[in-house]
Amino acid sequence: MEEYTRIWKQILEEISKKVAAVSYDMWFSKLEPLDISFGKIILVTNLNSIKDTLSKPIYRDKIMESIKTIDNPMVTDFTIINEDEKKEYLSKLNTNTVIEDSSQYNAPKFNEAYTFDNFVVGSSNNTAKSAAFSVAQNPGNSFNPLFIYGGVGLGKTHILHAIGNYVLSQNKNANIIYATTEQFVNDFIESMRNNKVSDKVFNFREKYRKADILMLDDVQFLIGKESSQEALFHTFNDLYQNKKQIVLTSDRHPRELRDLEERLKSRFQSGLTADISTPDLETRIAILQKKAYQKNFNISKNIIYFIAEKITSNIREIEGALSKVIFYCQLNNKDCADDLNLVMQALKDDLDVSTHVLSLDTITDAVCAYYNITKDEIKGAKKTKNIAEARQIDIYLINDMLSVPLMSIGNYLGNRDHSTIIYARDKVTDQLKTDNRIKMVVKDIRNMIEKN
Ligand code: ADP
Ligand code: MG
Repeated sequence: MEEYTRIWKQILEEISKKVAAVSYDMWFSKLEPLDISFGKIILVTNLNSIKDTLSKPIYRDKIMESIKTIDNPMVTDFTIINEDEKKEYLSKLNTNTVIEDSSQYNAPKFNEAYTFDNFVVGSSNNTAKSAAFSVAQNPGNSFNPLFIYGGVGLGKTHILHAIGNYVLSQNKNANIIYATTEQFVNDFIESMRNNKVSDKVFNFREKYRKADILMLDDVQFLIGKESSQEALFHTFNDLYQNKKQIVLTSDRHPRELRDLEERLKSRFQSGLTADISTPDLETRIAILQKKAYQKNFNISKNIIYFIAEKITSNIREIEGALSKVIFYCQLNNKDCADDLNLVMQALKDDLDVSTHVLSLDTITDAVCAYYNITKDEIKGAKKTKNIAEARQIDIYLINDMLSVPLMSIGNYLGNRDHSTIIYARDKVTDQLKTDNRIKMVVKDIRNMIEKN
């Protein structure tokens, strides 16, 4: 069975848990997987109605959630195409494919999108990336083993695939084994089913001990699996003695791997351990810029800044947020993301509650109603006393209630610059200390907003 068929089956199974049986039968089960390309699984349907339906946010989200659940690094996104697009895709594929030696079966395949070039470097991941690159250039002779650890969604799997892609680009015959720890454990259990030296035992040894490079992802899952730990210990020693490269990842430092055999822990630490931490604001911005560029989508600076400020947990979430924003813009026929309200709508599930109940518009509508002016006026250039005051109060309230970046507030209110926004915010903050009328106004408007 082709890899994409197998992966699609897993995704479908997850989908079936999330949607009603009728929609599953009518829409999802009708899709045929065609290929995996740059982390996207390509799905084909001959009915445009299916394509249209499944492109709606609620169905799209179900597919994305399911992809996330199976957590296979080869597939992180999907695209649905029709028969004509399929023909086009296949003809392009044929012209690009160099016919290779077909005896080279089971060639390792890495996600083509996970390369060193596509990896944005910042202080949070600099060491891990440099160490990995050095290992890729000089496998077995650099840091051995290389142990990379850090939280979920921070780029560990990306780095392993980058090593794979790089080494293969230098030597297409290199025997690189990438396995999730789950796969390793399964392979081992499978090999033990027969306790005589069967084909399967042979296959396990053959597979893992013949590797030029062994990459084992998420070794924290070895905890509690004693015989697999033992198998890894022997595999490790064998490879190490033969100067073969070993790269491991985990969600924590080796010494934090409680209940893991001591001898394995000490092996894990005998080369280089490098951590990846959560990216700082600059790195998050750089990642968003790079991904938006790769997706060929225009996103205004303040939207990039907004997403980078709001989504801080990990890079997978940042990517997910960006995809949602792009998707919403496309649904609304916009070829550029510059509308903060639309972005907030797209990200309503990802932003914290206070942000998603309120929006720039709800606050501004209340302020306009209170001062009896229009939205165009508050966003416009007029500086009559009434409008200017309304605008300042609006800025104050948005800043206070939404915590969106000042730049975004300025952008929303008719492209006013940053210093105007700071001035208004500070002015109202001061007035609130001394001016009872302003105090009342702010209190009344807050009440109006909260009742909404
Ligand atoms: P982990 O294995 O640590 O859970 P992944 O390697 O799966 O995380 O990364 C999650 C997503 O974030 C992937 O799509 C990956 O390409 C992306 N990503 C992570 N770090 C970076 C980075 N520094 N630059 C660009 N993309 C990154
Ligand atoms: Mg991973």
